[in-house]
Amino acid sequence: MYPETKKLSNREPVNMNETDLAFASKIGEIAGTDLNTCLTCMSCSGGCPMYTYMDYGPHGIMRLAVLGLKNEALASNTIWRCVGCHACAAVCPMAINIAGVMDYLREECLDDDVHAGDRPLLDFHRAFLWSLRRHGRSNKVELMGHHKLLTLGIGPKAWFQDAILGTKMILMGKLHLMPSRIMSKGLSQVREIVTGKWLDL
Ligand code: SF4
Ligand code: SF4
Repeated sequence: MYPETKKLSNREPVNMNETDLAFASKIGEIAGTDLNTCLTCMSCSGGCPMYTYMDYGPHGIMRLAVLGLKNEALASNTIWRCVGCHACAAVCPMAINIAGVMDYLREECLDDDVHAGDRPLLDFHRAFLWSLRRHGRSNKVELMGHHKLLTLGIGPKAWFQDAILGTKMILMGKLHLMPSRIMSKGLSQVREIVTGKWLDL
């Protein structure tokens, strides 16, 4: 993942003819927050630890949603690079549940079959859920290996960039090669929870 230093400067203007004016209200109903109260004050982006890596940032996503620019919001890398830390909501003067909005938009992106703005991060979610489903908890070595397989197309540099760090962590006992598994009843309960479209992409 690289900083979005160019932000949106090289892109074509957003097509304002494709608007879904009910989009913000729909998000509001599901994420339990009123986006129309957003002041575009940028406090959320100012406090966001991932803002450097995002194309729009949280304030931009709120603005796209209010303008009904659904496709632009769903294709943004911002919704995938959000780590759900809620730092934005803590500083938002209008108490907007921004992380909840990002959750909703990720789901919509998958439902509408929109090309994810950061496919390797979507693949990371998938690898995590696969590991969780197999063992009831994630195994980091397996997760890393699975993610490398899912992102083979990125190239050999991405494949080997973690090799030295990973080896050091294994030698220090920070990573465990053998996965631990939770008890069978708990495992079946986790498997009931971890299901659905995320795994089938
Ligand atoms: S901090 Fe809240 S009000 Fe300000 S831009 Fe972000 S979402 Fe909008
Ligand atoms: S929840 Fe997402 S958008 Fe909000 S501060 Fe954290 S990373 Fe940024």
